[in-house]
Amino acid sequence: MTASAMTFPAPDRRALSDFRALAGRIDGNGPRYTSYPTADRFRNDPDLSLYHDALADCRADAPAPLSLYLHIPFCENICYYCGCNKIITRDHGRSARYVSYLGREMALVADRLGTRREVIQSHWGGGTPTFLDPDEMRRVMALLNEHFALTADGEHAIEIDPRRVDHARMALLAELGFNRVSLGVQDFDAEVQQAIHRIQPFEETRAVVDAARALGFRSVSLDLIYGLPHQTAARFGHTIGQVLALRPDRLSVYSYAHLPHVFKPQRRIDESALPPAGEKLDILVSTIERLTAEGYVYIGMDHFALPDDDLAVAQREGRLQRNFQGYSTHAGYDQVGLGISAIGAIAGRYVQNARTLDAYYGALDQGRLPLARGVAMNADDHLRREIIGDLMCNGILDLPAIEARHGIDFSRAFSAELADLGRLSEDGLVQCEPGRITVTPLGRLLVRRVAMVFDRYLREDAARRADNGAQAANDGAQPIRIVPRYSRVV
Ligand code: SF4
Repeated sequence: MTASAMTFPAPDRRALSDFRALAGRIDGNGPRYTSYPTADRFRNDPDLSLYHDALADCRADAPAPLSLYLHIPFCENICYYCGCNKIITRDHGRSARYVSYLGREMALVADRLGTRREVIQSHWGGGTPTFLDPDEMRRVMALLNEHFALTADGEHAIEIDPRRVDHARMALLAELGFNRVSLGVQDFDAEVQQAIHRIQPFEETRAVVDAARALGFRSVSLDLIYGLPHQTAARFGHTIGQVLALRPDRLSVYSYAHLPHVFKPQRRIDESALPPAGEKLDILVSTIERLTAEGYVYIGMDHFALPDDDLAVAQREGRLQRNFQGYSTHAGYDQVGLGISAIGAIAGRYVQNARTLDAYYGALDQGRLPLARGVAMNADDHLRREIIGDLMCNGILDLPAIEARHGIDFSRAFSAELADLGRLSEDGLVQCEPGRITVTPLGRLLVRRVAMVFDRYLREDAARRADNGAQAANDGAQPIRIVPRYSRVV
C-alpha cells in the first residue's frame, strides 16, 4: 500500500471539462480488463489439460479459500439492449434440467480439488438467477454446500431482477445465505423503458430495496445504463434523483454500446432515438458530478460506492483488484466458474465453459468438465496484469516496487510503453516522474486508454496492422481499414 494509493483523486470540475474537450480526439473505449489477457485471447483446450492442471495446482494450494461464480442463463423476457449470454424462455422445466447438470459439474470440480474447499466469496449472475423457483434455488445452494463450504461471514452476492422478486423471495435469499444483492435498473424513465422493452416502475424497485434493507442485506447495488434511446442529461438526471433517494451502497453506470451486428436483440432498438455523442457525454459528466457531490466515491470506470462500502475502503487502503465482477476486494483468490460460459481464474490460468446448453450438457453427459477455452498466463502476462490492475484500481505505478517484485529494469522492459505514456502525459492523462507513474483525475475518466498501453496483445495487433498497411502501400493498394477489436466490450 502506498500513500498515493490512499489518495487516488476523484475527477474534479476541471478534469470533467478537460474530458469533454478531449473526448472527440481520444477514444476512451477499450477492454474492461476484468481479465488480462482479455477473454477474446482465450484459445480452445480440447484435451482439457489446461483445466486439469489448474485444478491440480489449486488442490496443492489447499486450504486456501476460493471465490466462486455461478451462471444462470435464463430470462423470461428480452431486454433489447442486452449483451449477456442468456436464454429467453418461459419454460421453467428447462431450469430444472440445468440445475441437475450444475450439480454434476460441481461434483467433477470438487472431486479434482480433493476436499470440500472453503468459499469466501460467491456471486450468482446471469441471465436472471431469480428465474429459478424457490425449490431450485434451495437445491443449487444445497449442492454448493455439499461440494464446497460457503463461509457464513463471506461475501455472497446475487443479481436480481426486481420485476421477478417479492418480499417472500427476498426472505428466501437471506435464508439461503446471500448478503449482497445487485439490482438491474437501467433507467426509470417510462419512455426509455418502453424503448428497451423493460418496464420496471420505480415503486417496484423501491419495494425490493426496502425489503433488502429490512432483511439485513449488507449491501445493495444498482446497475444503470446511459446512452439508451430517448435519454438526455435532464431526463437521466431525474432517474439519478430517484436512485439517490434509494441510497444504494454501490452504483454501476454502464455505457450502452450499440452493436446490433454482434447482439441481435439490439436490432430492435430505434437507432434514431439514441442520444448523439455529445448528449451521451453530457449524461456521463453530469452523472459523475452529481453522484460525487452527493457523497459517492468514484471507484473507477463505471463504478461508484458510498465511502464506508468495502470497495471504497479497499481502494483507500490500496487493496482493490479487478476480477470478472469488475472491482473486487477478493480478486486474489482462485475463482471457480460454474454453468454455461462461466469463466474461472485458477492457479494462473483462465478457463471458460461452453457457451451453449447443448455443448455444456454434452460434455457433462460424457463425464467431462464442460470447458470450451482458456489460456495459461506466462510471466509477462502476470507482470502486465499487475500493472494494468494497479493503474485501474489505485492509479499509480510504483516502479522500484515492480522492478523488485519481477526482477526487471522497468525503463528497459517497457521503453515503447513509456514513449506512449509520454504522449498521454502531454494530454494530461498521466504524470510520469522518476520512480512512479500516476493517473491524473482526467486520466481516471480514460483509464482504459491508459491501461491499453501495457496490453501486449493490442500492441502486437497494432504492429501487424502497421506492417500490413506498409505492405499494401508498397503494393499500391489501399490499406484495409480494420475495426479495432477493443471497440467491443470485452
Ligand atoms: S438484461 Fe438481464 S434480464 Fe434483460 S435479457 Fe439481459 S440478462 Fe436477461
